[in-house]
Amino acid sequence: MIGCDCGTCQSTDPRDRRRRPSILIRYDDGMAVLVDAGPDLREQALEHRIRRVDAIVFTHGHADHILGMDDVRRFNVLQKRPMPCYGDALTMADIRQTFAYAFNPSTQKGGGLPQIVPFVVQGPFCLGGKELQPVPLFHGRRPILGWRFGAFAYLTDCNRIPDESWPLLDGLEVVVVDALRDRPHPTHFTLDEAMAVGRRIGAPRTYFTHMCHELPHAPTAARLPAGMELAYDGLVVECS
Ligand SMILES: [Zn+2]
Ligand SMILES: [Zn+2]
Ligand SMILES: [Zn+2]
Repeated sequence: MIGCDCGTCQSTDPRDRRRRPSILIRYDDGMAVLVDAGPDLREQALEHRIRRVDAIVFTHGHADHILGMDDVRRFNVLQKRPMPCYGDALTMADIRQTFAYAFNPSTQKGGGLPQIVPFVVQGPFCLGGKELQPVPLFHGRRPILGWRFGAFAYLTDCNRIPDESWPLLDGLEVVVVDALRDRPHPTHFTLDEAMAVGRRIGAPRTYFTHMCHELPHAPTAARLPAGMELAYDGLVVECS
């Protein structure tokens, strides 16, 4: 956090240096799907040498999940095509509003504009022969989407999983769940709530994400039971 002197913000543990939440799903055949495009996308792509993104799927339209969209330009150049982007109607409207210049045909091209092809998601769909399953969640009052890819699911920015979404989370090997902090929050799960979600889903491996500086990595990780871990920037997880 800017201007914070707390132990997490001053920590020398690289796992306490947290960029905005986003993950990349990479399949055996090389296909890569980015989940969210936050303000740190450029730095994340440079650090992790990401040079291929076939599509972006969005969880929701909050700034920490979409403000990197302008950097899609570089992938347009590398891949010589517009970027297919998937999200619910509200999120795609947020992106159109926030990046209005990219959707306005009269904008001077100049240094280049991100070329985005927006799709509104209504349910599961196929991309390159793989099924992408949106998982409806609640982030406070706002409905948002988690995403399931095979035996992996990513459930960030949520504090409630509606009844109809639980069956979509059966048989997972790995699940990632929002765990903001210990104190209650109106739109995010606390660590205890996230652990309860992890137990109910019952995947062999549960990771927590979107932690704020109230949860320093090492001491918090030490409180977690077997099979539950804190995610961190650069973490690579293999899954079928
Ligand atoms: Zn701090
Ligand atoms: Zn959010
Ligand atoms: Zn967020």
